[in-house]
Amino acid sequence: MTARILVVDDIPANVKLLEARLLAEYFEVLTATSGPEAIEICENGKVDVVLLDVMMPGMDGIEVCRRLKSDPSTSHIPIVMVTALDQVSDRIRGLEAGADDFLTKPVRDLHLMTRVRSLVRLKSLTDELRLRASTTREIGIEELLSRNSPDLFSRPRVLLVDEAPSSSQRIALMLETVADMNVSVDPQEALIQAAEKGYDCIIISGRLTDFDPLRLCAQLRSVDRTRLIPIILMVDPGNDALIVRGLELGVDDYIIRPFDRHELLARLDTQIRRKRYNDHLRASVAETIEMAVTDGLTGLHNRRYLDSHLQTLVDRAAGRDRPLAVMITDLDRFKTVNDTYGHDAGDLVLREFARRLRQNVRGIDLACRYGGEEFIVVMPDTSGDVAERVGERIRAQIAGTPFSLGEGRPELTVTVSVGVSSLRHGSDTPDALLKRADLALYEAKKRGRNRVVGLAA
Ligand code: GH3
Ligand code: MG
Ligand code: MG
Repeated sequence: MTARILVVDDIPANVKLLEARLLAEYFEVLTATSGPEAIEICENGKVDVVLLDVMMPGMDGIEVCRRLKSDPSTSHIPIVMVTALDQVSDRIRGLEAGADDFLTKPVRDLHLMTRVRSLVRLKSLTDELRLRASTTREIGIEELLSRNSPDLFSRPRVLLVDEAPSSSQRIALMLETVADMNVSVDPQEALIQAAEKGYDCIIISGRLTDFDPLRLCAQLRSVDRTRLIPIILMVDPGNDALIVRGLELGVDDYIIRPFDRHELLARLDTQIRRKRYNDHLRASVAETIEMAVTDGLTGLHNRRYLDSHLQTLVDRAAGRDRPLAVMITDLDRFKTVNDTYGHDAGDLVLREFARRLRQNVRGIDLACRYGGEEFIVVMPDTSGDVAERVGERIRAQIAGTPFSLGEGRPELTVTVSVGVSSLRHGSDTPDALLKRADLALYEAKKRGRNRVVGLAA
């Protein structure tokens, strides 16, 4: 995993030291010796992680962090504050300014590499989602993120997996004002709970007597419903092996005992923010995809969706030697509806037609608006005869119940013509199937409209 790391320190020797270690691990390294220089690099370049010294003349690291985190174009870049060992208050101020992590000087290799790697991993996920969201949506990613969506700020739900009552009580007190926390003393039960309850973060104690805490981490990562919930591992000092293995298994962060409330809150906040930010992007991508395959006027699937799925339905029917029928409906003389009552009235009719169509087909049938006033229903496991009867039922329903155009306007009698075709086992294609249904429809129009014509398979 290669990534570009920006090292910021006013003392050139410190920069050189970190640079050499990162280069040895094949990271790309950029350097800056002042706050303003660091900000400029972040604004212009593709920086994946910033290692930021706290104590710098002029603009200190805390201020640099605050500025980067408050600018939507740089706020997603993970920042690691590098502080002097005894400066607990620096660490806390840094985390509160939005820093994602901190390292203490002298920087130990394990901590440097594991933190940088885990942040790079998160960043690449975030980048991908940003890219997808920005390419699938016309509005910019910045606007998307600056919208105050309530789910970014609602009270988080946290699951703590810890056997020791004294420890869990202490953590409960720390989180009391900021999160809803459940405690689980049984890892197996925790796994079930995590899958069912939609937590924002799971904190796992590295001290579980009869159970390997890493097994729980691995299980959480392999189950779909818990795969993306952040995990923070609580470890005892000196247990570097557990940290390394945990990070390899997809643990998002670790915290070393004993820790203070600020550190826990800041780490939790970072994880939860990142999760919600990603959830938000994922949802917007899903919504965009949904929009791309849905017809806006009627809520039915659109032509693009049908075109991409018909082949699958045909293959499935052919593979199982099952029948498959296609019905094309086209409203009769629809142009005169628009011409007489206006385009809005035409839209009302289309919407109502779609509603009735949906009501008259089964859930597994694929109903879509193919274009204009033309609708298609694909019916799995259905022979041509049966499909013709369904078509007849729809035809009768449309012609028999006039359409309302709203108060003060006359009710309108609408009719529809229907063409039906069915799959020919052998070498039939989606195109040929549609083409035959279309020919049948043409025949229905020719024979006087308001009728169903089937083209025998
Ligand atoms: P036929 O019985 O031969 O099908 O006659 P027709 O008038 O229904 O057919 P034609 O294809 O000539 O006209 C279709 C009309 O459907 C023309 C177009 O204005 C209208 N139409 C297509 N899409 C929409 C829409 O989204 N809203 C409205 N209101 N009208 C639409
Ligand atoms: Mg028509
Ligand atoms: Mg038409």
